[in-house]
Amino acid sequence: MKIKFILPSLVEAESPLWRPIKYSLFPPLGLATLASFLSPEDDAEIVDQHVQTLHLDDSPDVVAIQVYITNAKRAYQIADHYRQQGVLVLLGGLHVTSLPEEAAAHGDVLFIGPAEDSFPRFLEEYRAGHHQSVYRSHSRSLQKMRPIRRDLIDRRLYLVPNSIVVTRGCPHHCEFCYKDAFFKGGKSFYTQTVDDALAEIDRLPGKHLYFLDDHLLGHARFARDLFDGMRGMGRIFQGAATVDSVLNGDLIEKAAAAGLRSLFVGFESLDPINLRQSNKTQNLGRDYARAIQRLHDLGIMINGSFVFGLDGDDASVFERTVAWGVEMGITTATYHIATPYPGTLFYEKMNQSGRILTDDWDLYDTRHVVFQPHGMPMETLKSGYDRAYRDFYTWNAILQGSLSHGSIKHQLKHFFYTSGWKKFEPLWNLAIQLKKLNCLTRVLESVLSEVTRRTSTSPAHEEVRKLQGATDMVCEPPR
Ligand code: SF4
Repeated sequence: MKIKFILPSLVEAESPLWRPIKYSLFPPLGLATLASFLSPEDDAEIVDQHVQTLHLDDSPDVVAIQVYITNAKRAYQIADHYRQQGVLVLLGGLHVTSLPEEAAAHGDVLFIGPAEDSFPRFLEEYRAGHHQSVYRSHSRSLQKMRPIRRDLIDRRLYLVPNSIVVTRGCPHHCEFCYKDAFFKGGKSFYTQTVDDALAEIDRLPGKHLYFLDDHLLGHARFARDLFDGMRGMGRIFQGAATVDSVLNGDLIEKAAAAGLRSLFVGFESLDPINLRQSNKTQNLGRDYARAIQRLHDLGIMINGSFVFGLDGDDASVFERTVAWGVEMGITTATYHIATPYPGTLFYEKMNQSGRILTDDWDLYDTRHVVFQPHGMPMETLKSGYDRAYRDFYTWNAILQGSLSHGSIKHQLKHFFYTSGWKKFEPLWNLAIQLKKLNCLTRVLESVLSEVTRRTSTSPAHEEVRKLQGATDMVCEPPR
């Protein structure tokens, strides 16, 4: 069988605001995971249209397309093209799971929910000549997974080729998140075995890793064993977790001892009304400042995520949130306009109350207002969001945020990480054009190097010292 996996690029790729680097970070791991279920005699390729040219003049037996909301239009065009050529078209992903009726008009076979159990079923039935038109995941497990097909990925095209996922889903249930819609009808949080996760890490060259898991600390025992297993591997890594998990127990110290250098944290809102409205209970009553201090004491940089336009917000939210982030020394901020994705409880509520303004999915990119906000006009929400990004990434704010850290090394790291991400677009573009993005991975590793262990005397630092052991104080050279 000749099978072509496609990740279509989103419509924004044609916009003057398009930032190529934003979509050149991570390879399409989901497609590479599905490819691992193929037989050795199958002929497979993966095309990520964000970083590669998609040629449509071929005729594979099967095309499998990953659909998310802002690439749906393009995904359907590609699907329609291949169907006209008589190619069997498979569609899966978040958007197909949310709106299967819409997707059914463009695909021969739909995959609803995660496809780790349904894709092998499809392959078996396809080879036997009697496949179905819809596959739903029944039993969810990451046990006995084969190594994902990284050989189908061109590492030179990505800043973070060593991205990795060791869990699926998340234990929480925020109303605006796709997670519950995607995992409906089965387990919504499960992990690999620790041994498999460590084996996957071991297969990855170099030093830097990026865990793309929704919540790396979400399963405490798994995370503890993973970090214990990673100690001494000489890795540095980035990941995501909740405020709650940073504050509880000593998991975050274990993560730091294993090499965690930056964390994506979903603060989302400083207002308890918004947190309650969003069922973000894991953030309610949590001391954000203490969580930030704890991370900073461990030398962990923070990418804070914030949502604007929930019902508790008025026009003052933008300035307050930006000022707070700068004062707290958040390294990078990701702002979003609240977006009710179809399939989520948030969408249902907004739809029922007649507040959805458009079903043009291209606009569901968290940069446009697609529902009627409560506490301010739409225009104020949009302009406030744009201003928040501008204000957080002024040179002055970057400098101020950097100076909030105690050690000079942490100040420099903050400064270079933040300005590197937002202020050196021509350099990123050149590296992308020359297909040399992976060369900059080494620069990223330097910026993420260890910061506190020799300088800090905080309790968190002492804890890391204990966990790390006296002989493991210096990072190994890159492999
Ligand atoms: S914590 Fe994050 S991943 Fe988990 S449900 Fe909430 S928004 Fe989604």
